[in-house]
Amino acid sequence: MRHVPLRMCVACRRRRPKGELLRILMTPEGFRLDPTGKLPGRGAYVCPDNPDCWAEKKLRRFAGARAKALSEALWAHLGGKDGQSTHLPAG
Ligand SMILES: [Zn+2]
Repeated sequence: MRHVPLRMCVACRRRRPKGELLRILMTPEGFRLDPTGKLPGRGAYVCPDNPDCWAEKKLRRFAGARAKALSEALWAHLGGKDGQSTHLPAG
């Protein structure tokens, strides 16, 4: 069996193969999403397919005061990916 590197989601704490998770880069300025998983630096991971894991409440343990900003960044990045434009253009 091939070895698959596992990473833990900071929100639900489930361990999953690295490739299934979205990487968050931790910088002195705050968090930055790293969809390529290749940026240098310390990283953390969340489930990109589970909106529960993007909730501020779930992220607070990990992100503290920055949980809100991180939650918003996750929603902006992941929430609108498929199923965007729920509202119809006027006219
Ligand atoms: Zn998760």
